[in-house]
Amino acid sequence: MKEYDYLIVGAGLYGACFAYLARRKGRRCIVIDKRPHCGGNLYCESIESINVHKYGAHIFHTSDREVWDFVTSLCEFNNYINSPVANYKGKLYNLPFNMNTFHELWGVVTPEQAAEKIREQREAAGITEPKNLEEQAISLVGSDIYETLIKGYTEKQWGRKCTELPASIIRRLPVRFTFDNNYFNDIWQGIPVGGYNRLFARLLEGTEVRTGTDYFSDRPYFDSLAEKTVYTGPIDQFYGYRFGKLEYRTVRFETSVLDTPNYQGVAVMNYTDAETPFTRIIEHKHFEFGRQDKTVISREYSSEWKEDSEPYYPINDGRNNSLCLKYRELADTETSVLFGGRLAEYRYYDMHHIVERVLHHPELA
Ligand code: FAD
Ligand code: UDP
Repeated sequence: MKEYDYLIVGAGLYGACFAYLARRKGRRCIVIDKRPHCGGNLYCESIESINVHKYGAHIFHTSDREVWDFVTSLCEFNNYINSPVANYKGKLYNLPFNMNTFHELWGVVTPEQAAEKIREQREAAGITEPKNLEEQAISLVGSDIYETLIKGYTEKQWGRKCTELPASIIRRLPVRFTFDNNYFNDIWQGIPVGGYNRLFARLLEGTEVRTGTDYFSDRPYFDSLAEKTVYTGPIDQFYGYRFGKLEYRTVRFETSVLDTPNYQGVAVMNYTDAETPFTRIIEHKHFEFGRQDKTVISREYSSEWKEDSEPYYPINDGRNNSLCLKYRELADTETSVLFGGRLAEYRYYDMHHIVERVLHHPELA
């Protein structure tokens, strides 16, 4: 009998939730992560007493009561509501696309006037069945919003033309005919009070964790430790990239401390024109209504993933999806390896999807 029931590769949300639930079932777990800390992409670094979302801004939102009850049983969440502002060449617009945006752009006052504007622009573009992100965007919100708030931002974010991107990316955003700047439609939303590290401290309490430890540095040794491996790293790397590499988008964060208590008045400001080289500026203190004397901001620059950068966004286009399918076929034949999470499943999961998937994992039933 081996020392552990599970070797969990990755101390991100998937790995940590799995470890927590497995431990509650009396299973013996060891978690390893190649980064020097736990938390995966949710990790927060304290700078000037501000919790800086080091791998990108993270707002928890869900409509699944079980998921919300689970995370709030582990730590307290605040009542932060994400209401980003778009900056297009110095003019500000509310997001997501709602009556405030329509008023700012067209001066329309009623939902009927806004719907009419969109209908006119959709008809002028002649789109009946949207085949790509551009067509989907125009048919949802019209060509003015597409040109001002979507095209530049999306093409910077994904490094591809909107005509080459799947429509599904833009369907993530709500379109509303009410004056409501809440970026999400979900019932519950918030940020852990004191940052995400508190959530991970609870999830991994009592579990052996080795950070700064790469699974691939000594695979036979790590495999020898446990009956089963829960793998949350990139699926193509697990198989030595034998069919080729999956593509990702990565983000470079340029973080600075500013000697002002309030730089932009909002946590998230998107720069939606094509010329500004970054996609957005995050002012971290606003996630927790911080009153510190200084502030910390991060400019986000999006680019194609290379091996020495972090793989953030899977690019679920035709080429990558069919490549991923080949790896998944191999994964399905494994008897002692379980694959889960954004990298191992190569899916654009939000945090609540991850929690939901672990809560309902057959292995933990
Ligand atoms: P990860 O957090 O990536 O964890 C995987 C872990 O595995 C990492 O810590 C990695 O170091 C480790 N690992 C990989 N390979 C190895 C190896 N060989 N050996 C050891 N360890 C290894 N979701 C939301 O709900 N709301 C948001 O606002 C939001 N914002 C986001 C912003 C950005 C910029 C990004 C990229 C994602 C965002 N998400 C958001 C999604 C969220 O980050 C994911 O749903 C979540 O982090 C997935 O958890 P995971 O455990 O699958 O992956
Ligand atoms: N998007 C946009 N303009 C914006 C914000 C978002 O065009 O001001 C598009 C963009 O294509 C992005 C998608 O909407 O990839 C989804 O946005 P979201 O904020 O959900 O992206 P994420 O949180 O994953 O970075």
